[in-house]
Amino acid sequence: MTAREFALPGTRPKFAPDRVVDIHHITLEIDVDPQARKVEGTVTLRAAVIAPNTRTIELDAVELQIDSVTVGGTPVTFRHDGKKLRVELPAPHATAAELVIAIRYRGAPRRGLYFIAPDEGYPDKPVQVWTQGQDEDSRYWFPCFDAPNEKATSELIVTVPAGLFALSNGTLVDDRTDGAKRTLHWRLDVPHSCYLITLAIGDFAAVETSWRDTPVVYYAQRGREAEAERTLARTPEMLELFSTQFGVAYPYPRYAQVFVADFIFGGMENTSATTLTDTVLMDERAALDYDVDSLVAHELAHQWFGDLVTCRDWGEGWLNEGFATYSEYLWRERHEGRDAADLELEEWADCYFGEDSRRYRRTIATKLYDEPIDIFDHHLYDKGGRVLHMLRHFLGDDQFFGALRHYLGKHKHGVVESRDLARAFEDATGKNVDWFFSQWVIDSAGHPELEVSVRWDAERGIATVTVEQTQKVEGRTPLFRIPTSVRFRVGERDHDHPVELVDPKHVFHIRLDAEPTQMIFDPGRVILAGMKVDKPEDVWWAELQGATLAIDRSSAAQAIGKRGGPHNERALGEALAGDEFWAVRGAAAQGLAIVRTTMARDRLITALGAETHPRARRMIA
Ligand SMILES: [Zn+2]
Repeated sequence: MTAREFALPGTRPKFAPDRVVDIHHITLEIDVDPQARKVEGTVTLRAAVIAPNTRTIELDAVELQIDSVTVGGTPVTFRHDGKKLRVELPAPHATAAELVIAIRYRGAPRRGLYFIAPDEGYPDKPVQVWTQGQDEDSRYWFPCFDAPNEKATSELIVTVPAGLFALSNGTLVDDRTDGAKRTLHWRLDVPHSCYLITLAIGDFAAVETSWRDTPVVYYAQRGREAEAERTLARTPEMLELFSTQFGVAYPYPRYAQVFVADFIFGGMENTSATTLTDTVLMDERAALDYDVDSLVAHELAHQWFGDLVTCRDWGEGWLNEGFATYSEYLWRERHEGRDAADLELEEWADCYFGEDSRRYRRTIATKLYDEPIDIFDHHLYDKGGRVLHMLRHFLGDDQFFGALRHYLGKHKHGVVESRDLARAFEDATGKNVDWFFSQWVIDSAGHPELEVSVRWDAERGIATVTVEQTQKVEGRTPLFRIPTSVRFRVGERDHDHPVELVDPKHVFHIRLDAEPTQMIFDPGRVILAGMKVDKPEDVWWAELQGATLAIDRSSAAQAIGKRGGPHNERALGEALAGDEFWAVRGAAAQGLAIVRTTMARDRLITALGAETHPRARRMIA
């Protein structure tokens, strides 16, 4: 089932590096030449040694030329092997004393700092320069302690050709043009990890708006302002939602987003200044058919989860990406409602199940990986998001969001590992959630495979729910502990009956006042599990017709589509014509497509004529 191990055999566990110095502040004063594709300047670190008698400080500086190093203004001995820069301190320093280490350097970076320019194939391409530090590439454009477990405030003073603008973290404190050169000075007074230091140079135009008292600015290549504004229009609403829901107001003095050409990812959550690919800029027609809110919400949520509170090492990267992914759900839920948000859950599950079955199975948090980039997979993003969704439903909204507020407050400006999150949940709720983190994140891997059957015994007035965990318990794949519920519709009302799975097989007998028309195990499909469900046909029909959550109506449509026959066809036809949510209409259409009778075809053609929702039309056609 699992094609290979996640990490190559013999891979040694990766731990966060030793911190020899505590860096307080980073000043980058550089000159960038877009034409020559070069950078040169000085990085100055204000720092203190952590252990007394420290004599050597090691920094990362890859393929950079180091011209000189001074400590407190005095030149010192250094060694540079092309990757590591070792600086010798002239004398032992007291741990409380602040050192000022200044490194003069130059380079023509191949990574970390990217130079974009027109060429024969693309004569209209703009001249731009932008950075991508995550995960370990800041070291290609300035000497630094290049690991997330060190945080400092930062400033960047950059000189560029006079016609260009340069964006960096924080606020612009100075901007002056002198002949053919322009120098911009940016400063961020909130400590962050150095992979989040950003620089984006180009002929950018700005669209300025605000949220509460915070400036919110969108930058795009001059001439594309309207597209930028259209694409990012809901940013202030997202700032309001996350500030409220996370219980910590947006923590930086400004929020900028800049669209750049040829970006190597969709977006990057650089502190207070997110970089986005310009391929998502939307013209008016595109905006009718889709939005990129998920991307915008994802990068914005990282400002809390990733930037303010940061994974201690990349093996804990899900603490950044799982939350950013889940925040896409939170935005969708607020903006379009739970039914629309639940569609994301299905997409994530598909991505994760595919990776798990075709590539490898791993624990979400792991020290065993070959390169940090390998960690950024569907286990990290999609399963990570689903795990948080389960935790939310297990605890309830008050406890879940209360615990997030506590976690952010406790660890802001710091670094975290999974146990810190578990402990924050325990602090805030009193509930020990170690078992949850152990099975879903830290120690175990995989997911449950569930076989569920539900029956109603009219004579005894008892519903019987049988649930079996059929996954093979071996290696890191455990028998799961799963708190969930069964939803019965009795009369007009839903009754949620809590159940908890701990054994390989459970048979629950649940007494009800009257015959239920619906019997839904795990309503809302919260549990990340493969599931086979067996229930009477008329119960499926009732659920397709009237389950409270669209995702449960869609499940019914899928189950009915597999069965065929005139009654099932009619049930699907009615849902296709009448369901209020487009994705259920789409699922009904797909069910009918499987049925493949003439009548099913007629129903589809009629529905296509009446359907106005573009995504439902795509599912029907
Ligand atoms: Zn992300």
